[in-house]
Amino acid sequence: MIAAGTQMIAKDGAPGLLAPASPASGEHLGIATYRLLNGCDPADADITDNDAFDRHVLASIVAAAAMDGGAIATRTGLTSQNLSALVAEYFPRARIYLSSWCGGTEAAEDDEVGMVRDLLLGQRSTTGNVGRWLAAMVARRAVEPNHLWEDLGLRDRSELSRLLMRHFAPLASRNTRNMRWKRFFYRMLCEDDGFVMCTTPVCTQCNDFELCFGEESGESRMAERRRDFLIQTAASAAPPRPLA
Ligand code: SF4
Repeated sequence: MIAAGTQMIAKDGAPGLLAPASPASGEHLGIATYRLLNGCDPADADITDNDAFDRHVLASIVAAAAMDGGAIATRTGLTSQNLSALVAEYFPRARIYLSSWCGGTEAAEDDEVGMVRDLLLGQRSTTGNVGRWLAAMVARRAVEPNHLWEDLGLRDRSELSRLLMRHFAPLASRNTRNMRWKRFFYRMLCEDDGFVMCTTPVCTQCNDFELCFGEESGESRMAERRRDFLIQTAASAAPPRPLA
């Protein structure tokens, strides 16, 4: 997926900052891909300003898609054309990888993905391409099995809340009861488009209450892989135990 042994400048505007284009031995592809795009480990990303936050989110989603295997474009929810445009605008030095990231046949769009994407697109609060790309990316990652923030490769749920409030504020501000975001989208579709998720009109009488309103805590996918990598590295560096 990423040419072994290649190095490149990974952070725009930071000449001399080199990042390996392939995972170091035992390191996870997601972390290596993130570093390739954003020039630092995900754990170290400074997202204080909104532009840096957008770059972090986009790099996280591409990295999460890389972790899943298969064509990255498909797993991000973007067409090859849109992924190319995104990389050109945000991570231009990674353009040399686009041919491998965009390989394969583009699958027909899943109806559910299209409904969530259109829900988001209809309630944007920013202009420009990034909100349009994020609508497609969030919708595609929402069909993955984990918490949505995890399958977007983000570090915690608060980053997903910030992303939605920043780019899709009219929709996100309707989540006044802090419902799980993925379930919230489907609830909105139930109300707006006759999509069927809710078995009762009233949440308090529903058997799925915990699924919709339970905690969304956990360890980020990349932090988990990073921890595994550090444990493996420490184990391989440990001196052999003397024979009894
Ligand atoms: S708790 Fe039940 S009724 Fe409420 S949003 Fe979830 S599935 Fe629908």
